[in-house]
Amino acid sequence: DRFPQPVRCIFFLNMKKSLLLILISAFAFGQIQKVEPAFWWKGMKNPELQILVYGKDISKYTVELSDQIQVKDLTKTENPNYVFITVNTNEINSSLFKINFKENNKTVYSYKYELKNRKPNSANRASYTSKDVMYLIMPDRFANGDPSNDSQKNLTDKANRTEPSGRHGGDLRGIINNLDYLQNLGATALWLTPVNEDNEKRTSYHGYAQTDLYQIDARYGTNEEYLELSQALQKRGMKLVQDYVTNHWGISHWLIKDLPTKDWIHQFPDGEGKYGFKRSNYRITSQFDTNVADIDKKEALNGWFDTTMADLNQSNPLVLKYLTQNAIWWIEYAELGGMRVDTYPYNNKEGMAKWAKAITDEYPNFNIVGEAWMYSPAHISYWQKNSKIAEIDGYNSNLPSVMDFTLYTDLPSALKEEDGWDKGMIKIYNSFGNDFLYPDINNILVFFENHDTERFNEIFNGDSRYYKMALTLISTVRGIPQIYYGSEIGMRGDKNKGGDADIRRDFPGGWKGDSQNAFNPKTQTPEQQDFYHFTQKILNWRNGKDVIHNGKTKHYMPKEKVYVYFRYNEKEKVMVVINNNEKDQTLDLSRFAESLSGISAGKDVISGKDFSVNPQNKLTVSGKSSLILELK
Ligand code: CA
Repeated sequence: DRFPQPVRCIFFLNMKKSLLLILISAFAFGQIQKVEPAFWWKGMKNPELQILVYGKDISKYTVELSDQIQVKDLTKTENPNYVFITVNTNEINSSLFKINFKENNKTVYSYKYELKNRKPNSANRASYTSKDVMYLIMPDRFANGDPSNDSQKNLTDKANRTEPSGRHGGDLRGIINNLDYLQNLGATALWLTPVNEDNEKRTSYHGYAQTDLYQIDARYGTNEEYLELSQALQKRGMKLVQDYVTNHWGISHWLIKDLPTKDWIHQFPDGEGKYGFKRSNYRITSQFDTNVADIDKKEALNGWFDTTMADLNQSNPLVLKYLTQNAIWWIEYAELGGMRVDTYPYNNKEGMAKWAKAITDEYPNFNIVGEAWMYSPAHISYWQKNSKIAEIDGYNSNLPSVMDFTLYTDLPSALKEEDGWDKGMIKIYNSFGNDFLYPDINNILVFFENHDTERFNEIFNGDSRYYKMALTLISTVRGIPQIYYGSEIGMRGDKNKGGDADIRRDFPGGWKGDSQNAFNPKTQTPEQQDFYHFTQKILNWRNGKDVIHNGKTKHYMPKEKVYVYFRYNEKEKVMVVINNNEKDQTLDLSRFAESLSGISAGKDVISGKDFSVNPQNKLTVSGKSSLILELK
């Protein structure tokens, strides 16, 4: 041994590194550049697996599998750089097999394909339900737990916290570090906006122009850290919800840059640029409008959501298979507890019905909420599985959950306006009057804001009384309440003035050197504490309340700007009173007699105060506040 010990170590390390580099180069410059999915699992309900192999002129070779495994289907496309190999995993006994690419009977390239074992009970995993409270995070803006990953050599958009639409450095580690905060708040499910690689040049922080669907963006961390987050959540009885985008990929996605088929994405002959870009007209009622003009429908569905978001063609079976397998891959790999799907009605709806069915066939309890941002409850309910409205149209989406955009739209104006025939609190009442349209009313997401909307606290100028009334509402009505990061400490941001970036400000305390840390309730400002403590109290109470999760609802027409409703089951009854007057209001309880038989008292969840509650009594509620009374 010529070298002293430490030096020798470095020498061997370097040897290993060079060897690795040689191997990587052989892989990258050789025929096989990508295999997707890179591995799969044994024992899936659907044993069919389609493996995409990408490499220069790969389709000219003969494909043979080791161990006499049969190729069930081999699809080649007009682009010689792709082959799609279908196998039946039930017919494969070993956990590793080889995909050999042959020329003149000689193997030229080979890939070792792995079939992993599934985790016990993987198929029957739990998913979010009306028992959960969903907390929506934009990971780039929440907390920077690992400053070393903020910028990446291979990824164009570098960290710049002074640029509102730039990458700010938040990541998965930052979320993992703050799980105590989230759990104490009462959140039980985390919806993260997309965290897969988005290598667009600018404004990539939102993640909706993904460029690699099998890779967590290195600025957020690694696939392993994503799994770590999911497992850490499960240990706390919480769930990770993935934001899935079926409608589009970023134009810098490697598959878009070398399309397998021209019709992989929607290209307009008279459109702009390399791919025939045309912007969507966003008129998604064309999905079921019986009077629709073909040109409008085509532009709505095939038009692109934005210039950097290539519009995928889910009616192409290869595209649909890719999207389906990729979603299942993430559920299985990252042990997901649910999904949220972006821009749902912009997709080919027949394709999406198959997509949702394939996932829920594989995972019967798995919940998926689709973003059908529409304004009529009939239109929204169309997208929920087993919708009677969609049945008229001969359609069933198979999508378990939708979002209550009607309530979202009506809530701020209901609280702002003076009451009138069709103004003020009656809007909330009317909104719930549409519940009969939904086949599963407990499985809809209720919210008053998200990462695309005005911040609620901005609309109401930071007045926590409005936040508290709105939070009371979404926490006690049917469905799954969803809150947006930072509102629980009163965060604001003006979309009208500052655009999207302003409603996605950094959470205070998420970055080293922040002047204030709101993750620790003790170092919150008194204003933040006011929001935080109310939120914490109501959400934690809700988490244990079956009557809220699954109970029935009876509501009373608002009078004098006061809205009253009851949630009840055979065991429990809760009375909610929302007073939108500046002044105290005294209610004559005789009007609610049909809900109060056998009731004598009620304890307010927030203040802990006892109230005498029976039809002979009166009940006084403070101005701009609510009561949540557990009735006895
Ligand atoms: Ca970071």
